[in-house]
Amino acid sequence: MADRAADTGRGAEPIWSWPSNRVRYSWTSETDTGTTTHSAGWGTTVKHPISQRDAGLCRSQPKGTNFTKAFLERRDASQDLLGEYLADSNVKEAATRRLLQSVSNQFPCNVTLFRNGLSPTPLCPQCTRSNPQSQQRESFGHIQCWCPTLAKPRTAAHHSIWRELLASIKINSNITRAPLPAQSSDSTTEVRPTAAPRPAKTAQWEFPTVVTSTMVKEWTIKDIVCHIAADPESVLQIDEIDDKTDGFLRAQGLNPSAQDVADFLKKRPDGVAFRRPVGAQKQLRILEFTRASDTSDDWQEKKEVEKNLRYCQHVKFISELTSWHVEQINFTVGIRGQLQSTSFKRRLLSLGVETDKAQESIRKLTVRRTLEAHELMLRCYFSAKYSNTQDWSNLSFLQSATTSIGKGIFLHHLSS
Ligand SMILES: [Zn+2]
Repeated sequence: MADRAADTGRGAEPIWSWPSNRVRYSWTSETDTGTTTHSAGWGTTVKHPISQRDAGLCRSQPKGTNFTKAFLERRDASQDLLGEYLADSNVKEAATRRLLQSVSNQFPCNVTLFRNGLSPTPLCPQCTRSNPQSQQRESFGHIQCWCPTLAKPRTAAHHSIWRELLASIKINSNITRAPLPAQSSDSTTEVRPTAAPRPAKTAQWEFPTVVTSTMVKEWTIKDIVCHIAADPESVLQIDEIDDKTDGFLRAQGLNPSAQDVADFLKKRPDGVAFRRPVGAQKQLRILEFTRASDTSDDWQEKKEVEKNLRYCQHVKFISELTSWHVEQINFTVGIRGQLQSTSFKRRLLSLGVETDKAQESIRKLTVRRTLEAHELMLRCYFSAKYSNTQDWSNLSFLQSATTSIGKGIFLHHLSS
């Protein structure tokens, strides 16, 4: 409402020359006797037509498209954590307001303003500025997930969530449940399992790209294959990887150049995990993390099909080249903080995060960081919109004293 009132105010002509030196607004309206001109200071006389106009806008929206209701009724989507965040007094009021706007699909981007008759165009001004022929619409998803102007903040947002998530997986992996103590058959008291280190001889997941809780290296496919080739039991030689790749691509019906081979090997998944059980097949997991638009109900499935397509040939390549069992694991969160708890925890479990407590802790951390990234992205959006620059060094929140690990990673990448 306040934003719309401000927009309306911008459209009216304030008069400063009255003796009281207070702002007065003038506007016209159609009556039975013709056009009437009104003039008034800020008060009920001005607020009333604005509220009437807003009421009319709501009624004019298409029926049966209540985005908020559908969004909040999605099952198993971590709505509990969205509620916790909105109720958190440590979250700034402006951030809460912007999150509510995005959850209700009312964030004042050009698509929303155009829909409500408050903008002459739904197109993205940033994209139009760099290419006058651009037809990119400035939707909320465009701002958060696509607009090239915001590419650097978007990468920073991705890293700010994923690096802490992956580090948390490493810390909590390989901690297993201790055996349940014996209970009498008539016991009614639930005894929860307690965490205990996994026996040393049992295979543990290795995450060699995680350096610290804030620093994660990114390995290329070639780095991953070299790591496997360095295994004492490996028969694969590092200097034959390029030739093997060329042969694999030819077997797929391609006629690759040296550059094609190099491009195939330099793909860089978000993470990797290895496991070497004694006397059993070694395991490799290629990890991908995506912060995706969660506007549609099937947002996660769509995005994960896309992510699997990106690495399916590499999974096949490494499987054929080595004796390792290779799979891809996707971690996907929605830009508005949606996270499917069941599939998320199942994937944590597959990487050795076994305790309920650890899984829940990582779920909470991931949603919290995602909602923080939501706000940081919008701060960058407003900066680009009003200062018409992609210089992120002058943003006020860079000077903020309170910084979470995720925000620290975000700012580090933004300023690098
Ligand atoms: Zn754009």
